Amino acid sequence: MTSPASPPERRAPAGDAHRGRPRTFPEAARLALADTQLRRNLGHATATIRRRRGEAVGELPDWEELREAGRAIKERVLRHLDTYLEQLEASVERAGGVVHWARDAAECNRIVADVVKAHGQTEVVKVNNGRSRVLADPVGRQTLNCIRCSACLNVCPVYERTGGHAYGSVYPGPIGAILTPQLEGLDRAGTLPYASSLCGACYEVCPVKIDIPEVLVHLRGQVVGHKRAARRVPDPEAATMEALAWVFADRRRYELAQKLARVGQLPLARSGRVRRLPAALAGWTEMRDAPAIPAQTFRDWWRRR
Ligand code: SF4
Repeated sequence: MTSPASPPERRAPAGDAHRGRPRTFPEAARLALADTQLRRNLGHATATIRRRRGEAVGELPDWEELREAGRAIKERVLRHLDTYLEQLEASVERAGGVVHWARDAAECNRIVADVVKAHGQTEVVKVNNGRSRVLADPVGRQTLNCIRCSACLNVCPVYERTGGHAYGSVYPGPIGAILTPQLEGLDRAGTLPYASSLCGACYEVCPVKIDIPEVLVHLRGQVVGHKRAARRVPDPEAATMEALAWVFADRRRYELAQKLARVGQLPLARSGRVRRLPAALAGWTEMRDAPAIPAQTFRDWWRRR
C-alpha cells in the first residue's frame, strides 16, 4: 500500500440478493435472456467490436509473435513478483511516497484509516484479494496474466446473450468465469465455470494467450470434486460417470459394453441416430440426438484387415 493516489479496487456489486443469497449464473442468465432489448443491444455491440478488432489484428503481420511475447512478459512478472513489488516500493519511496505492507484485509483497513486521518484522502492501495492463492495453482495462475482488454467478452457466445450483469462480479465474460470463482471460492461462484460452451474463441483472441477453456475445465473438475466429497450417496449422473470411467479404463470391458449397447439400441436407433434415450438417460437426448453404435467399429475393421 502506498501513499499517496487512487481508491481501493472496487468490490463486485455482489450479485443480486436472491432469497437471501447471491443469484447463481443460471438464474441471472435466465433473467437476462428474457430481455429482448438487452440481447439486441448486446448482439449489435459485440458484433461491431468483433469486426473492428478483426480489422485491427489483420493489420499486424506479427500478431501471433506479439501474443507470445505478451504471454512471456506476464509470466515472467508473475514468476518474479516479489522482486517487482520491491522495485515498486523503491520507486515510490524515491518519489517521496511512503509504502505500508499489510498481511490481510483487517491490517490494510487499519493502515488506510490511520493514513487518511493523518494525511487526507490521496492513497494508492494495491490489494492482493486472494491472488496469492490463484498464483499457487499451476493451471489457474495464467488467469493473472489478464490485461483486461475485453477481447474475450466480445467473442463469447454466452456473454453475447447474457451480458455482464449475469456474472455477478466486476469481471464479466470468460475471464470472469475463471477469475471470480478463484477469488471468491467455488461455494459462492461455482456455477461460473459452466458459463461457457468451451468453443475456445476466448483463447483464440486473448492477446496474452490465457487458455481460458483449460482453466474452465480445471475449475469444473474442482466443482465436481467438492460435490463428490460432500455427498454421501452418489447422484445418478455421478454414478453413470463413474461406471463409464470403469468401462473405459479396460479394453475388454469397453468392447463388451459396445456389443451390449449395439443390441440394446435396436429398438431406439433409426438411420444411424438415437433420438430418444429411455428413463434416466432421457435428459441426454432432450436437446440433441446421439450417434448409434455402428455395426462395425474401427477396432473390428482394424482386426479384419
Ligand atoms: S482476452 Fe485475455 S487479456 Fe483480454 S480480458 Fe480476456 S482474458 Fe483478459
